[in-house]
Amino acid sequence: MSSITSVAVIGAGQMGNGIAHVFAQAGRTVTMIDVADAALARGRDTIAANLDRQIKKGTIDAAAKDATLGRLTTSTALDAVAGAQLIIEAASERRELKFQLFADLDRLASPGAILASNTSSISITELAARTARPAHVIGMHFMNPVPVMQLVEVIRGLATSDETTRAVLDAATALGKVPVEVNDYPGFVANRILMPMINEAIYCVMEGVGTPEAIDTVMKLGMNHPMGPLALADFIGLDTCLAILEVMHDGLGDPKYRPCPLLRKHVAAGWLGKKSGRGFYSY
Ligand code: NAD
Repeated sequence: MSSITSVAVIGAGQMGNGIAHVFAQAGRTVTMIDVADAALARGRDTIAANLDRQIKKGTIDAAAKDATLGRLTTSTALDAVAGAQLIIEAASERRELKFQLFADLDRLASPGAILASNTSSISITELAARTARPAHVIGMHFMNPVPVMQLVEVIRGLATSDETTRAVLDAATALGKVPVEVNDYPGFVANRILMPMINEAIYCVMEGVGTPEAIDTVMKLGMNHPMGPLALADFIGLDTCLAILEVMHDGLGDPKYRPCPLLRKHVAAGWLGKKSGRGFYSY
Protein backbone atom coordinates (compact mmCIF):
# COMPACT_ATOMS: atom_id res chain seq x y z
CA MET A 1 0.00 0.00 0.00
CA SER A 2 1.10 3.58 -0.52
CA SER A 3 2.30 5.31 2.62
CA ILE A 4 -0.18 5.77 5.41
CA THR A 5 -1.66 9.26 5.85
CA SER A 6 -4.82 8.58 7.86
CA VAL A 7 -5.00 6.66 11.10
CA ALA A 8 -7.72 5.78 13.60
CA VAL A 9 -6.94 4.82 17.20
CA ILE A 10 -9.47 2.91 19.29
CA GLY A 11 -9.18 3.78 22.99
CA ALA A 12 -8.03 7.13 24.43
CA GLY A 13 -6.36 5.69 27.56
CA GLN A 14 -2.70 5.95 28.39
CA MET A 15 -1.61 4.01 25.29
CA GLY A 16 -4.29 5.20 22.86
CA ASN A 17 -3.63 8.90 23.46
CA GLY A 18 0.12 8.30 23.12
CA ILE A 19 -0.33 6.51 19.80
CA ALA A 20 -2.66 9.27 18.53
CA HIS A 21 -0.08 11.85 19.67
CA VAL A 22 2.88 10.37 17.74
CA PHE A 23 0.96 9.83 14.50
CA ALA A 24 -0.58 13.34 14.58
CA GLN A 25 2.84 14.84 15.35
CA ALA A 26 4.27 12.97 12.35
CA GLY A 27 1.74 14.67 10.05
CA ARG A 28 -0.95 11.98 9.87
CA THR A 29 -4.65 12.71 10.18
CA VAL A 30 -5.81 10.94 13.33
CA THR A 31 -9.25 10.02 14.67
CA MET A 32 -9.21 8.91 18.31
CA ILE A 33 -12.26 6.88 19.34
CA ASP A 34 -13.44 5.89 22.82
CA VAL A 35 -16.74 4.84 24.35
CA ALA A 36 -17.03 7.89 26.59
CA ASP A 37 -16.68 11.62 25.91
CA ALA A 38 -14.92 12.01 29.26
CA ALA A 39 -12.20 9.52 28.20
CA LEU A 40 -11.71 11.42 24.93
CA ALA A 41 -11.44 14.76 26.76
CA ARG A 42 -8.89 13.28 29.18
CA GLY A 43 -6.95 11.77 26.28
CA ARG A 44 -6.86 15.06 24.40
CA ASP A 45 -5.79 16.96 27.54
CA THR A 46 -2.99 14.45 28.10
CA ILE A 47 -1.75 14.92 24.53
CA ALA A 48 -1.79 18.72 24.97
CA ALA A 49 0.10 18.45 28.28
CA ASN A 50 2.70 16.11 26.74
CA LEU A 51 3.15 18.48 23.78
CA ASP A 52 3.70 21.33 26.29
CA ARG A 53 6.40 19.22 27.92
CA GLN A 54 8.07 18.79 24.49
CA ILE A 55 7.93 22.57 23.97
CA LYS A 56 9.56 23.13 27.37
CA LYS A 57 12.32 20.67 26.44
CA GLY A 58 12.82 22.55 23.16
CA THR A 59 12.10 19.53 20.93
CA ILE A 60 9.07 21.19 19.25
CA ASP A 61 7.68 24.73 19.00
CA ALA A 62 4.20 26.09 19.76
CA ALA A 63 3.23 26.00 16.08
CA ALA A 64 3.97 22.26 15.97
CA LYS A 65 1.71 21.74 18.98
CA ASP A 66 -1.18 23.57 17.28
CA ALA A 67 -0.62 21.69 14.03
CA THR A 68 -0.55 18.34 15.87
CA LEU A 69 -3.78 19.07 17.73
CA GLY A 70 -5.28 20.38 14.47
CA ARG A 71 -4.78 16.95 12.85
CA LEU A 72 -6.57 15.17 15.70
CA THR A 73 -10.33 14.60 15.85
CA THR A 74 -12.22 12.51 18.38
CA SER A 75 -15.40 10.46 18.24
CA THR A 76 -17.48 8.09 20.33
CA ALA A 77 -18.75 6.36 17.16
CA LEU A 78 -16.77 3.39 15.89
CA ASP A 79 -17.87 4.08 12.32
CA ALA A 80 -15.52 7.09 12.35
CA VAL A 81 -12.84 4.54 11.30
CA ALA A 82 -14.28 4.51 7.77
CA GLY A 83 -11.66 6.77 6.16
CA ALA A 84 -8.56 5.38 7.90
CA GLN A 85 -5.87 3.33 6.15
CA LEU A 86 -4.46 2.06 9.45
CA ILE A 87 -6.60 1.36 12.51
CA ILE A 88 -4.84 0.69 15.80
CA GLU A 89 -6.91 -0.83 18.57
CA ALA A 90 -5.73 0.21 22.05
CA ALA A 91 -8.80 -0.56 24.17
CA SER A 92 -8.63 -2.36 27.52
CA GLU A 93 -6.79 -5.72 27.63
CA ARG A 94 -9.86 -7.99 27.57
CA ARG A 95 -10.20 -10.81 25.06
CA GLU A 96 -13.97 -10.69 24.52
CA LEU A 97 -13.87 -6.90 24.14
CA LYS A 98 -11.13 -7.07 21.50
CA PHE A 99 -12.82 -9.99 19.68
CA GLN A 100 -16.02 -7.92 19.36
CA LEU A 101 -14.06 -4.82 18.32
CA PHE A 102 -12.22 -6.69 15.55
CA ALA A 103 -15.50 -8.11 14.19
CA ASP A 104 -17.00 -4.59 14.23
CA LEU A 105 -13.89 -2.95 12.77
CA ASP A 106 -13.84 -5.45 9.91
CA ARG A 107 -17.40 -4.41 9.04
CA LEU A 108 -16.78 -0.65 9.38
CA ALA A 109 -13.25 -0.13 8.04
CA SER A 110 -12.51 0.47 4.37
CA PRO A 111 -11.74 -2.78 2.51
CA GLY A 112 -7.97 -2.25 2.18
CA ALA A 113 -7.42 -0.92 5.70
CA ILE A 114 -4.96 -2.58 8.07
CA LEU A 115 -6.37 -3.58 11.47
CA ALA A 116 -3.60 -3.47 14.09
CA SER A 117 -3.81 -4.19 17.81
CA ASN A 118 -1.67 -2.68 20.54
CA THR A 119 -2.49 -5.70 22.73
CA SER A 120 0.19 -6.69 25.21
CA SER A 121 -0.50 -10.40 25.00
CA ILE A 122 -3.70 -11.45 23.22
CA SER A 123 -3.28 -13.64 20.14
CA ILE A 124 -3.13 -11.68 16.88
CA THR A 125 -4.11 -14.87 15.04
CA GLU A 126 -7.30 -15.12 17.13
CA LEU A 127 -8.13 -11.44 16.59
CA ALA A 128 -7.58 -11.94 12.84
CA ALA A 129 -9.95 -14.92 12.85
CA ARG A 130 -12.75 -12.55 13.96
CA THR A 131 -12.41 -10.76 10.62
CA ALA A 132 -12.73 -11.58 6.93
CA ARG A 133 -9.31 -9.98 6.31
CA PRO A 134 -6.79 -11.97 8.39
CA ALA A 135 -3.95 -11.03 6.01
CA HIS A 136 -4.51 -7.39 7.01
CA VAL A 137 -4.41 -7.97 10.77
CA ILE A 138 -1.21 -7.44 12.76
CA GLY A 139 0.11 -6.51 16.21
CA MET A 140 1.63 -3.07 16.66
CA HIS A 141 2.76 -3.04 20.27
CA PHE A 142 3.94 0.38 21.41
CA MET A 143 5.71 0.90 24.73
CA ASN A 144 4.62 3.27 27.50
CA PRO A 145 5.04 6.30 27.36
CA VAL A 146 4.56 6.16 23.61
CA PRO A 147 6.06 9.58 22.71
CA VAL A 148 9.27 8.65 24.58
CA MET A 149 9.88 4.95 23.98
CA GLN A 150 11.61 3.85 20.78
CA LEU A 151 10.48 0.26 20.43
CA VAL A 152 7.45 -0.99 18.50
CA GLU A 153 7.06 -4.76 18.69
CA VAL A 154 5.44 -5.81 15.39
CA ILE A 155 3.61 -9.13 15.72
CA ARG A 156 2.77 -11.29 12.74
CA GLY A 157 -0.29 -13.50 13.12
CA LEU A 158 -0.37 -16.80 11.31
CA ALA A 159 -2.13 -15.24 8.30
CA THR A 160 -0.55 -11.75 8.31
CA SER A 161 0.73 -10.90 4.81
CA ASP A 162 4.22 -9.66 3.94
CA GLU A 163 2.59 -6.52 2.49
CA THR A 164 0.81 -5.70 5.76
CA THR A 165 3.98 -6.34 7.74
CA ARG A 166 6.04 -4.09 5.46
CA ALA A 167 3.44 -1.27 5.66
CA VAL A 168 3.43 -1.41 9.48
CA LEU A 169 7.23 -1.62 9.75
CA ASP A 170 7.41 1.45 7.47
CA ALA A 171 4.73 3.29 9.48
CA ALA A 172 6.66 2.70 12.72
CA THR A 173 9.94 3.80 11.13
CA ALA A 174 8.28 6.96 9.81
CA LEU A 175 7.47 7.85 13.44
CA GLY A 176 11.17 7.66 14.29
CA LYS A 177 10.56 4.38 16.16
CA VAL A 178 12.50 1.13 15.86
CA PRO A 179 10.19 -1.75 14.91
CA VAL A 180 11.14 -5.33 15.77
CA GLU A 181 9.29 -8.17 14.07
CA VAL A 182 8.26 -11.16 16.18
CA ASN A 183 5.81 -14.06 15.90
CA ASP A 184 2.51 -14.62 17.62
CA TYR A 185 2.79 -16.49 20.94
CA PRO A 186 1.21 -15.39 24.24
CA GLY A 187 2.97 -12.27 25.55
CA PHE A 188 5.08 -12.05 22.36
CA VAL A 189 8.66 -11.17 23.44
CA ALA A 190 8.39 -8.03 25.58
CA ASN A 191 5.86 -9.30 28.10
CA ARG A 192 6.95 -12.95 27.92
CA ILE A 193 10.17 -11.78 29.54
CA LEU A 194 9.02 -8.73 31.52
CA MET A 195 5.91 -10.13 33.26
CA PRO A 196 7.57 -13.13 34.96
CA MET A 197 10.06 -10.66 36.47
CA ILE A 198 7.30 -8.33 37.70
CA ASN A 199 5.32 -11.32 39.03
CA GLU A 200 8.37 -12.62 40.91
CA ALA A 201 8.92 -9.17 42.43
CA ILE A 202 5.30 -9.26 43.69
CA TYR A 203 5.93 -12.72 45.21
CA CYS A 204 8.93 -11.18 46.98
CA VAL A 205 6.62 -8.53 48.50
CA MET A 206 4.01 -11.14 49.46
CA GLU A 207 6.56 -13.41 51.12
CA GLY A 208 8.17 -10.50 52.94
CA VAL A 209 11.53 -10.94 51.22
CA GLY A 210 11.73 -7.16 50.97
CA THR A 211 9.70 -3.97 50.85
CA PRO A 212 8.73 -2.61 47.42
CA GLU A 213 11.39 0.09 47.86
CA ALA A 214 14.06 -2.51 48.71
CA ILE A 215 13.14 -4.76 45.78
CA ASP A 216 13.08 -1.89 43.29
CA THR A 217 16.39 -0.53 44.59
CA VAL A 218 18.05 -3.96 44.17
CA MET A 219 16.93 -4.11 40.55
CA LYS A 220 17.79 -0.49 39.76
CA LEU A 221 21.23 -0.38 41.32
CA GLY A 222 22.10 -4.05 40.93
CA MET A 223 20.87 -4.65 37.39
CA ASN A 224 20.97 -1.10 36.05
CA HIS A 225 17.24 -1.09 35.28
CA PRO A 226 15.95 2.49 34.92
CA MET A 227 12.84 1.60 36.96
CA GLY A 228 12.28 -1.15 39.52
CA PRO A 229 9.76 -3.88 38.59
CA LEU A 230 7.12 -2.75 41.11
CA ALA A 231 7.24 0.91 40.05
CA LEU A 232 7.03 -0.33 36.45
CA ALA A 233 4.04 -2.55 37.29
CA ASP A 234 2.27 0.46 38.84
CA PHE A 235 3.07 2.46 35.74
CA ILE A 236 1.77 -0.20 33.32
CA GLY A 237 -1.38 -0.72 35.44
CA LEU A 238 -1.81 -3.72 37.76
CA ASP A 239 -5.04 -4.74 35.99
CA THR A 240 -3.14 -4.85 32.70
CA CYS A 241 -0.29 -6.86 34.30
CA LEU A 242 -2.81 -9.38 35.68
CA ALA A 243 -4.59 -9.65 32.32
CA ILE A 244 -1.27 -10.31 30.53
CA LEU A 245 -0.21 -12.98 33.03
CA GLU A 246 -3.62 -14.69 32.69
CA VAL A 247 -3.21 -14.80 28.89
CA MET A 248 0.30 -16.30 29.22
CA HIS A 249 -0.81 -18.76 31.91
CA ASP A 250 -3.80 -19.93 29.83
CA GLY A 251 -2.03 -19.86 26.50
CA LEU A 252 1.26 -21.48 27.48
CA GLY A 253 -0.13 -23.73 30.24
CA ASP A 254 3.00 -23.50 32.35
CA PRO A 255 2.52 -22.83 36.10
CA LYS A 256 5.52 -20.51 36.05
CA TYR A 257 3.19 -17.82 34.62
CA ARG A 258 0.57 -18.09 37.43
CA PRO A 259 -0.32 -14.58 38.64
CA CYS A 260 0.78 -13.88 42.22
CA PRO A 261 -2.20 -13.86 44.66
CA LEU A 262 -1.07 -10.46 45.96
CA LEU A 263 -1.41 -9.03 42.42
CA ARG A 264 -4.98 -10.40 42.26
CA LYS A 265 -5.70 -8.83 45.66
CA HIS A 266 -4.46 -5.40 44.58
CA VAL A 267 -6.60 -5.52 41.44
CA ALA A 268 -9.64 -6.69 43.46
CA ALA A 269 -9.14 -3.72 45.79
CA GLY A 270 -9.01 -1.30 42.85
CA TRP A 271 -5.34 -0.54 43.58
CA LEU A 272 -4.40 -0.46 39.92
CA GLY A 273 -1.19 1.58 40.19
CA LYS A 274 -0.50 5.09 39.05
CA LYS A 275 -3.78 5.47 37.13
CA SER A 276 -5.88 4.86 40.29
CA GLY A 277 -3.55 6.70 42.69
CA ARG A 278 -2.42 3.59 44.56
CA GLY A 279 -0.61 0.37 43.69
CA PHE A 280 2.59 -0.83 45.32
CA TYR A 281 3.26 2.88 45.86
CA SER A 282 0.96 5.87 46.48
CA TYR A 283 0.66 8.65 43.87
P1 NAD B 1 -6.36 2.25 29.76
O1 NAD B 1 -7.21 1.60 30.79
O2 NAD B 1 -5.54 3.45 30.11
O3 NAD B 1 -7.28 2.69 28.50
C1 NAD B 1 -8.18 1.83 27.86
C2 NAD B 1 -9.21 2.72 27.15
O4 NAD B 1 -10.03 1.86 26.30
C3 NAD B 1 -10.19 3.43 28.10
O5 NAD B 1 -10.18 4.82 27.82
C4 NAD B 1 -11.54 2.80 27.76
O6 NAD B 1 -12.62 3.71 27.90
C5 NAD B 1 -11.33 2.41 26.31
N1 NAD B 1 -12.28 1.41 25.82
C6 NAD B 1 -12.78 0.32 26.45
N2 NAD B 1 -13.64 -0.31 25.66
C7 NAD B 1 -13.68 0.35 24.47
C8 NAD B 1 -14.40 0.19 23.26
N3 NAD B 1 -15.25 -0.81 23.07
N4 NAD B 1 -14.20 1.09 22.27
C9 NAD B 1 -13.34 2.12 22.44
N5 NAD B 1 -12.64 2.33 23.56
C10 NAD B 1 -12.80 1.46 24.58
O7 NAD B 1 -5.46 1.08 29.16
P2 NAD B 1 -4.02 1.20 28.42
O8 NAD B 1 -2.94 1.07 29.42
O9 NAD B 1 -4.06 2.37 27.49
O10 NAD B 1 -4.01 -0.15 27.57
C11 NAD B 1 -4.65 -0.25 26.30
C12 NAD B 1 -4.07 -1.42 25.53
O11 NAD B 1 -2.66 -1.22 25.37
C13 NAD B 1 -4.22 -2.77 26.23
O12 NAD B 1 -4.43 -3.77 25.25
C14 NAD B 1 -2.88 -2.95 26.91
O13 NAD B 1 -2.56 -4.30 27.12
C15 NAD B 1 -1.96 -2.34 25.86
N6 NAD B 1 -0.64 -1.87 26.36
C16 NAD B 1 -0.53 -1.24 27.58
C17 NAD B 1 0.71 -0.81 28.01
C18 NAD B 1 0.86 -0.10 29.33
O14 NAD B 1 2.00 0.13 29.76
N7 NAD B 1 -0.21 0.27 29.99
C19 NAD B 1 1.84 -0.97 27.20
C20 NAD B 1 1.70 -1.57 25.95
C21 NAD B 1 0.45 -2.02 25.54
